Amino acid sequence: MHHRVACEDIFLEAQNAMTILVRLIYASKVAPNFGPMDMRDILQKSRHNNIGSGITGLLVMADGYFFQALEGDRMAVHTTYAKILRDPRHTNSVVLSATEIEKRHFTDWSMGYVLSTEKNRPLFMSYSADKYFDPLSMRAQAAESLLTEIGQHARQIGGSESLT
Ligand code: FAD
Repeated sequence: MHHRVACEDIFLEAQNAMTILVRLIYASKVAPNFGPMDMRDILQKSRHNNIGSGITGLLVMADGYFFQALEGDRMAVHTTYAKILRDPRHTNSVVLSATEIEKRHFTDWSMGYVLSTEKNRPLFMSYSADKYFDPLSMRAQAAESLLTEIGQHARQIGGSESLT
């Protein structure tokens, strides 16, 4: 009995040790026929699935682009991204950054959502070389910093939009 418990403990410890925490950031283009109901469906599905797979993150929609951070166990994050890639509601997806992390940035959101508005527009533009916001050509470090700032900004002005 004792022996069995000890073996199970060792197995669980080994499993925990194999869990590698990562953050993946990608950007993509919103599909031309995308509508507000699509956004509602994506958020509902994401929040449901991400709670189950231990993923947290932030999804931004701005100037016809999606910009998303997914953080969690490496296998869970890559499996989810593979599903997202096949989704026809967006195109031209580009991974901007995929790194091992010590801790999560978006622990409070299974999937927070931020829409570009007048209030946060200066923040988006502060990371753009051009006069348009174009996350597809962003450097990894800039993408990391912008998403962190957007998250902080959303918390300061009352959390991310829920759109449920
Ligand atoms: P189901 O919901 O049963 O879907 C089965 C298949 O149908 C999937 O291939 C799905 O892509 C497709 N599908 C479902 N609804 C539609 C529709 N209205 N139009 C076209 N195709 C459709 N999912 C997450 O789990 N976590 C996320 O963080 C996440 N972020 C996303 C961000 C963006 C920008 C987009 C576009 C999608 C995101 N999704 C996310 C949704 C993801 O792409 C899949 O649709 C979802 O994970 C599939 O869930 P499911 O396995 O339960 O299958």
